[in-house]
Amino acid sequence: MSDIVAANRDRLLQAAVEAKAFAYAPYSKFRVGAALLTEDGEIIKGANIENASYGGTICAERTAFVKAASEGKRKFAALAVTTDVASPIAPCGMCRQVIREFCSLDMPILLAASSYMEKKDGVKELTLEELLPYSFGPEDLDRDRAPPA
Ligand SMILES: [Zn+2]
Repeated sequence: MSDIVAANRDRLLQAAVEAKAFAYAPYSKFRVGAALLTEDGEIIKGANIENASYGGTICAERTAFVKAASEGKRKFAALAVTTDVASPIAPCGMCRQVIREFCSLDMPILLAASSYMEKKDGVKELTLEELLPYSFGPEDLDRDRAPPA
């Protein structure tokens, strides 16, 4: 774990818990909070924002990334995610791909159990590569390829 992540680990996990309080989840009742740590030590929070159309729903992780990226923040050191579930819950497939767009494969992703604030425990730590092995990313578009027929 890099110095910046170690120094901000608890702050980042706490921010994910705070973000969860603003989840808009009237349909699933499944609240999710995410917090992104930039390489500058800034934290950007996100919560899941559901929609009556269902398809318009945006996950907490993507909310955080879109908030950050749309403000010019594109370099991240870690991501934390938490829910109301007693065990750590991992990002959905679509969010994993969005994380892949902006983060290195060795970036830590901290998945916190709902009891994190009381126990300061129950955190599963994975890298992006562990969450999304054999992934496709921006650099793959630069690969040599046969011209279209
Ligand atoms: Zn998701």
